Amino acid sequence: MLKGKTAIVTGSTSGIGHGMATALAAEGVNLVINGIEPPDRGAAIAEGFAKTHGVEAIYSNANLMEREGCEALVRAGEARFGAIDILINNAGVQHVAPIEDFPPEKWDAIIALNLCSSFHTIRTALPGMKKKGWGRIISLASAHGLVASPFKSAYVAAKHGVVGLTKVVALETAELDITCNAICPGYVWTPLVEKQIDDQARAHNIPKDRVIGEVILAPQPKKRFAQVEEIGALAVFLCSDAAASITGAALPVDGGWTAR
Ligand code: NAD
Repeated sequence: MLKGKTAIVTGSTSGIGHGMATALAAEGVNLVINGIEPPDRGAAIAEGFAKTHGVEAIYSNANLMEREGCEALVRAGEARFGAIDILINNAGVQHVAPIEDFPPEKWDAIIALNLCSSFHTIRTALPGMKKKGWGRIISLASAHGLVASPFKSAYVAAKHGVVGLTKVVALETAELDITCNAICPGYVWTPLVEKQIDDQARAHNIPKDRVIGEVILAPQPKKRFAQVEEIGALAVFLCSDAAASITGAALPVDGGWTAR
């Protein structure tokens, strides 16, 4: 059903984005891969998807911290494939500090990438989807789009913003076969989380296994990391006809974190 459609997956050279791109490629979806890797490295990643799954894939290293980068990414996809069918806003960064020490430039960068980029890609891609009368928009929010943790002011603010933006877009597109949803993971095993484990081990001066149990997975009743394949499978489901009535939702994949 998804075969031959085109997806942009932002931040798909690594982690969850790579997992979702892999799951979509397995369904025969052509891909616009994006990340901050240099063009030759990114092109090799895109080529990997093409070879393994027999789809077409291009790479753009558009910097999504900038409005022009977001617009350029969507335009590059449209120029190659025509209107975009599936837009997945996934690129994101994190910084952890008490609010009075939080570097303002880190606040600006996190809001720009984790929130504003979704607004810019959606507003650029939506006219093409509306013309086709079909589209699927998914944004990677977080459990931190639903509840807060200390020291993550910018991240929590941005992810709550993504959930709000998702609801507005869902309402504005409800009359067409277009849906817009947010996926809200707890901890997923990716390079972003591995780095947090290293940082926390240094900060608390305790070994990594204690950081995982006592710090990272402390708020998550299921003491396991979700795997990128699980998020990929959910993304494919949200793109399917079976999910045509799921829109404006913020779907937790958080091991019970937000059930408390
Ligand atoms: P990751 O660090 O593995 O990957 C981040 C991706 O974003 C990479 O492809 C990187 O190249 C790209 N990127 C970074 N800066 C960019 C920029 N300026 N322009 C374009 N691309 C850029 O991260 P991840 O853990 O896979 O996280 C992906 C998303 O999922 C993020 O939005 C994150 O907040 C969210 N999330 C992650 C977890 C988790 O536990 N890993 C939990 C909840 C939500």
